Amino acid sequence: MVIGANKVVSFHYRVAEEGQPAMEESFGGDPLVYLHGHKQMIPGVEAALEGKQAGEKFSVTVAPGQAYGERNQNAIQRISISHVVNPTKRPIKFKPGMVVQVNTNEGPRMVVVVKAGLKTLDVDLNHPLAGKTLTFDLEVVSVRDATPEEIEHGHAHGVGGHQH
Ligand code: ZN
Repeated sequence: MVIGANKVVSFHYRVAEEGQPAMEESFGGDPLVYLHGHKQMIPGVEAALEGKQAGEKFSVTVAPGQAYGERNQNAIQRISISHVVNPTKRPIKFKPGMVVQVNTNEGPRMVVVVKAGLKTLDVDLNHPLAGKTLTFDLEVVSVRDATPEEIEHGHAHGVGGHQH
């Protein structure tokens, strides 16, 4: 079965900044699962997977505009440390370059600490991978037809997908 609109795809990935060691991968763990054609995946990766079948392995290099977007130089903001998600309940020692999760009006998001104060942090709201050209090594694990319910919801259900 070939990947196209309304197929549920599971695949493994390894992502690296061009010419750098891998930053993250799913190989050796659970594959990513998504519903194709519903803006659930990075556009450049979704486009590369289109037309592929289970078992295919390939690499694709994706420009920032088709990955996590360009960097916005005005995205540095001062926030209260109380907005940082801290599941450990122990104080965090903030350092520049650290990636932390903060609660925003649009839900939680990852930000990079630029400068740490006593009660405030200057954070870069750009996605840590914004502005980067990324190389993805991909392996398609499985492709199946989406159920009518999945198409209606716009996401995959079951293992690796949305759990209701
Ligand atoms: Zn659903």
